[in-house]
Amino acid sequence: RRSNTNKNIQAKLVLLGDMGTGKTSLVLRFVKGQFSDYQESTIGAAFFTQVLSLNEATIKFDIWDTAGQERYHSLAPMYYRGAAAAIVVYDITSSESFERAKKWVQELQRRGNLNLITFLVANKVDLEEKREVGKEEGELYAKENGFSFLETSAKTAQNVNELFYEIAKKLAKAA
Ligand code: GDP
Ligand code: MG
Repeated sequence: RRSNTNKNIQAKLVLLGDMGTGKTSLVLRFVKGQFSDYQESTIGAAFFTQVLSLNEATIKFDIWDTAGQERYHSLAPMYYRGAAAAIVVYDITSSESFERAKKWVQELQRRGNLNLITFLVANKVDLEEKREVGKEEGELYAKENGFSFLETSAKTAQNVNELFYEIAKKLAKAA
């Protein structure tokens, strides 16, 4: 039964993190339910919308996937301006990507938007045998910095819908 307090929320969501960590793959898994081992690097516009319905609210996500400018940190402020939520992604098989994720976390914190919903996401957990970054390490760093944390696999779909539902729930609560 639809309650009369059902809210319609439109929210900009941005993905940040090093090239190759699986940002586009996570979005395509969520939006299209698909995965490709040969995901082409994102060039040009990368904008997706997806609607999630909760009991208490309907959330329309405007998802901004980084379009190959991951290396250019100076573009970031323009890119995440007006965002309600930010997902910083690293790849558990790459310590380097974790170090770069920390840079993004720090940059978002310098901006000091207390209302921003922030997630640190450790992707590619299906590649356990190649793991370089421990779960506890990621979890602890997230916690220390006030980020929520999830380990995901765009390939197997592990925790991907959960990630976007968690964000939707936080948005509904904040609205
Ligand atoms: P982006 O540059 O951050 O957008 O990363 P992409 O989504 O383009 O992914 C980079 C590469 O990693 C592609 O070859 C993907 O198929 C692969 N990839 C992405 N997510 C996963 C995952 O969860 N597991 C595995 N095994 N590979 C992944
Ligand atoms: Mg991409």
